[in-house]
Amino acid sequence: MIKGIGASGGIAIGKAFIVSEHALKVEKKRIEDKAFEIERFRRCVKKAEEEIKNIIEVASKTLGAEETEIFEAHLLILQDPEFLGTVEMKINSEGVNSEFALEETITMFVSVFEDMGIEYMMERAGDVKDVGGRLMNLLLGVKTLAVGDIKDQSIIVKKDLTPSDTAQLNKEKVLGFVTGIGGRTSHSAIMARTLGIPAVVGLGTYMEEIKQGDLIILNGDDGEIIINPQEETLLKFKNFQQSQQEEKNQLMALVNEPAITLDGKGIELAGNIGSPEDARLALMQGAQGIGLFRTEFLYMDKDKLPSEEEQFNSYKEVLENMRGKGVIIRTLDIGGDKKLNYLPLTEELNPFLGCRALRLCLKEKHIFKTQLRALLRASVYGNLKIMFPMVSGVEEIVEVKKLLREVKQELSQQGIGYRESIEIGIMIEIPSAAIISDLLAKEVDFFSIGTNDLIQYTIAVDRMNEDVSYLYNPLHPAILRLVKLVINNAHKEGKWVGICGEMASDLRAVQILIGMGIDELSMSAGSIPKVKDLIRNSNYEHCKIIVEKVLNLSSPEEIEECLKKQK
Ligand code: PEP
Ligand code: MG
Repeated sequence: MIKGIGASGGIAIGKAFIVSEHALKVEKKRIEDKAFEIERFRRCVKKAEEEIKNIIEVASKTLGAEETEIFEAHLLILQDPEFLGTVEMKINSEGVNSEFALEETITMFVSVFEDMGIEYMMERAGDVKDVGGRLMNLLLGVKTLAVGDIKDQSIIVKKDLTPSDTAQLNKEKVLGFVTGIGGRTSHSAIMARTLGIPAVVGLGTYMEEIKQGDLIILNGDDGEIIINPQEETLLKFKNFQQSQQEEKNQLMALVNEPAITLDGKGIELAGNIGSPEDARLALMQGAQGIGLFRTEFLYMDKDKLPSEEEQFNSYKEVLENMRGKGVIIRTLDIGGDKKLNYLPLTEELNPFLGCRALRLCLKEKHIFKTQLRALLRASVYGNLKIMFPMVSGVEEIVEVKKLLREVKQELSQQGIGYRESIEIGIMIEIPSAAIISDLLAKEVDFFSIGTNDLIQYTIAVDRMNEDVSYLYNPLHPAILRLVKLVINNAHKEGKWVGICGEMASDLRAVQILIGMGIDELSMSAGSIPKVKDLIRNSNYEHCKIIVEKVLNLSSPEEIEECLKKQK
């Protein structure tokens, strides 16, 4: 048995599908028979062409036109006489092997394109790397698998699962995820919870113990992986899996019931989403609204910035599907672990503390304004609330509100409609914002506490780093005090406050949050039924007593012990 971090609950049993990263070693060799070598290279080019044509055929049925265009561009490179000619010329004149000639050619083309510093050319550099990698695998006879190659139901094992992996994912076939890096709040973990797929992340080097096709049991609750289990163990986990399924079915009976405590305190339960499709999942699990739409996923699944029209359509779709229920759409939160391949950002030593999210938007105003226009235009289709991430001080929100007024004015001048009374909120995810939440509460209509980042910044513990994940704990007294401070400050100004970080669905923390007076909890769709069940079995007055007790304790361990005794 190997142990990582349980990131999405449930048991998955299936064959491992290992997706390897490109890290191929190329040796320089002298070639005697140059004609044969060129012939070998050309055969691989043909083969790569066939592979890409197959992908285009599948992608044109399952994905949009833009995804297909990426592969069309790859095909063009494979047919480009300059690219192919350079490789063949090197084989001929230098007498080197195809692999070496190809590697040198890729490096040359990529650096020429990248040095131009033009967005379009940077994209072409990415294409050359991608196609070059495919060709190299064929030359070296290495069979690499991509996430999209998955044919039978399997458990995906990959060092890191990127948002573009998920774009290719056939969700019907994925039983579970295992990743080498990341913690409970890394984006691959959040995505697994949204899809309701069991996941274990942060396995580190233990990941290497899993071999292609091994039968594995993945326990997403405890973060355990059992490789090639004995018959007896397999049976035990199959039974466990079945009883979990039965429990899930029972909880689904609550789907239309309100999230209200035994003594009548109602809490709004909302869903966190990354795409319009996720909103449907959230509704199916009983979400009363959307508490966080992470719009960066609209930007990450593409090879260029989404246009105003594309964004407008996505926002409109969610608003219409939610039929008047509140939909909090968060503006672009890029940076940190969320990158855009097509938007070259300055290399930063500490990207989580760098030009991220709102900071980037206020710098690149044209990107921000496009999103604000799309949001305002979509506002007439439902109950939109706009939320801004990574606010650290009052000046930022003042600047944002000014910009929003400007965009509204522009739309009015163009005769384009929008709803005038849109609630504006901010995420409280930087300690400075929590500390001055009394001042910020005067500026906005609501707060949503982003505990994923608030924990990492407060305890100084990287949310992606499995080596320090033992310190990452929402029950740390500093976090509980900050959350309480934010709730109190919001309420003093008559504003409502929610939590959209993963703490909202942490069953150890829910009663503390109820006792502190939280108004809304927003989480991945799959977590809603369990949290609702807990709220419906809790007593608000008792939760307040729990809060008093835990706030007097000095460590997460003591708090956890105290919570166990309350049951
Ligand atoms: C958070 O930081 O808690 C949050 C919800 O935002 P994200 O996880 O997208 O950074
Ligand atoms: Mg955050």
